[in-house]
Amino acid sequence: MKTVEQSKTCGICDQAKYRGIHLYNLFICCECEQKMIHTEPKQEQYQYYLNKLKNINQPKLYS
Ligand SMILES: [Zn+2]
Repeated sequence: MKTVEQSKTCGICDQAKYRGIHLYNLFICCECEQKMIHTEPKQEQYQYYLNKLKNINQPKLYS
């Protein structure tokens, strides 16, 4: 059998990438991972990433 490397869709940039990390059920490509690391909390972009990350493991709260 041939080993086919599957691309995954990055949860941040929505592009199909081969390399990246898994954060819970979200796949983050290397580029976005690096960008996130170098983004400071005061930058607008940081909120964008945070919003994306909020989609991970959303706890179901019943009030
Ligand atoms: Zn990405």
